[in-house]
Amino acid sequence: MSILVKPSSISNTSVADESDRMREDERRMLVLQCWERLEGKYKIPERPKAPLLDALFRVLLSQNTTDRNCDVAFSRLKERFRQWEEAETASLEDLEEAIRPAGMSKIRASRIKEILALLKETHKSLDLEFLKKLDPESALDFLLSLPGVGIKSASVLLLFYLGHPFFPVDTHVYRVGRRLGVIPLRLDVKKAHEHMNRVVPDDLKYPFHMALVMHGRRVCRARNPRCGECVLDDICQKVGLGLEDGRADRED
Ligand code: SF4
Repeated sequence: MSILVKPSSISNTSVADESDRMREDERRMLVLQCWERLEGKYKIPERPKAPLLDALFRVLLSQNTTDRNCDVAFSRLKERFRQWEEAETASLEDLEEAIRPAGMSKIRASRIKEILALLKETHKSLDLEFLKKLDPESALDFLLSLPGVGIKSASVLLLFYLGHPFFPVDTHVYRVGRRLGVIPLRLDVKKAHEHMNRVVPDDLKYPFHMALVMHGRRVCRARNPRCGECVLDDICQKVGLGLEDGRADRED
């Protein structure tokens, strides 16, 4: 059964006001309606598998860089330091050198060192497997206490690798979600996380996140979105089209 949400007309002069008028239950229905369309369009990959500390460092390296640069930096990091114990005792310069392709290597290397030192001190072991025994909120609190880990990175760890119902709002999700009318225009990225956690059903959090990311990369691009070939064209509110956004990547 198709669930229809009637798009409101939004003028350029009051996009924020109009966007904010939509009720949360309407946005929840819009999420389901979008998912009905996107589900048939994109093949959603399986959730990735990796040791949690590896996953965390990969997520930290992925901030504000391309997938390719992140992959190269992470591979170099793993090649250079076969065990995280070696990285913990290595010099900051060695760590910086390993992850240089990701950019901002000084600050990223410092954060990795800090996280390793903290784990050694508090858990006597350089891994994050203990997170599997924590309830979701406690695991979130722990991750947010780590240097360089914000709500987006923590949500990725929790959703992708632990299967907890947290919805990450990256730059694509933030842009596409606001244009669609799923995310109110007035919300900053942190509030957008809380909002998406409420309006996206738990069993759709992973596939809908992935679908929005793929849609943002291929169709609803930051510049020149391809509305004419978009499967969401007739239900999209097209809120603030043309506004500069992309702030999600700077949150962490
Ligand atoms: S209709 Fe346009 S703005 Fe809306 S989701 Fe599709 S490409 Fe993006």
